[in-house]
Amino acid sequence: MVKIFIDPGHGGSDSGATGFGLREKDLTLNIAKRIEKILLLEYDDVQVKMSRTGDQSVSLKARTNTANVWKADFLLSIHINASGGTGFESFIYIGNFPSRTATNQKRNILHNEVIKATGFMDRGKKEADFHMVRESHMQSVLTENGFIDNAHDVNQLSQSSFLDKIARGHANGLEKALNLRKKSAEQVSVVSSSKGEMSNERYKVNKTLDGYYTAADAKAEVNKKTKVEKGDYFVFNRFEGMINVTKVKGSPGSWINSKNNTRTKPQNTFLIKVKANELWYYNKPDWNAREGTVKIGDVFTVVDTLTVNGSKMYALKSGTYITANPQNVEKL
Ligand SMILES: [Zn+2]
Repeated sequence: MVKIFIDPGHGGSDSGATGFGLREKDLTLNIAKRIEKILLLEYDDVQVKMSRTGDQSVSLKARTNTANVWKADFLLSIHINASGGTGFESFIYIGNFPSRTATNQKRNILHNEVIKATGFMDRGKKEADFHMVRESHMQSVLTENGFIDNAHDVNQLSQSSFLDKIARGHANGLEKALNLRKKSAEQVSVVSSSKGEMSNERYKVNKTLDGYYTAADAKAEVNKKTKVEKGDYFVFNRFEGMINVTKVKGSPGSWINSKNNTRTKPQNTFLIKVKANELWYYNKPDWNAREGTVKIGDVFTVVDTLTVNGSKMYALKSGTYITANPQNVEKL
């Protein structure tokens, strides 16, 4: 288990730097949350703790104390620069400390990955006497992600897709620097909406829902993209109960949180009885997602019928899934 402490700079009464209507404290929290989500959704054996999760005032001392008491393996402090300039720079502590060489190696990896993901102008790998990197007992790095008073940087920092690139760069850097293990390729590939299948599966949205850019956003219900109107859709992708619905088959649409799509058609539900002696059920519409077994004679309420890899599957009222093969289950 790798414990990563993420520190969104500033907060509460301390706005940090400001410019063009943006506040550093909002951007640092936004980026930090995106990094947290990527780490938790895409990697195994990672724990993340944040110095703040909302717009709170937290002293520098409280931040490093929390990280030290928690015994984080790595501390990442996120900031936005100001006062004339453009681009990205990163800092480690300027003084002497035992893990200086290892810290610098990790910083270099992280720094290069952020530059690669964002295309930021590279202002260099630096050292400073900042509280966050001086008072933290674990290896630590502070990043300055663009300038809030530079029109070019602010234009980029105003785009959700660019904040994703910043987060992705940090996550890639943490992966390499800390040897994080990715979840299975299949799980990971569906986190972004860039991949999906030319599926014939249909999905009915029963009321207007919020649509999101990624499955992670839909799960956390943050960073709304659009409204998804009531109606019939194709399923572009599914991930952990989140569904990417689209009007254009084969093209990504928006992610919705399916638990918000209250099913309003009870007449479409029906009961099934298990015919096989023992039968797998699944925690998501995926034949690999076996959760446990049910027994002959067990009865369940079916709320939906799906096609998964060419075979029919029933979605059950309980939120789990089971085969629809009539050799194994019978409709009542
Ligand atoms: Zn700052």
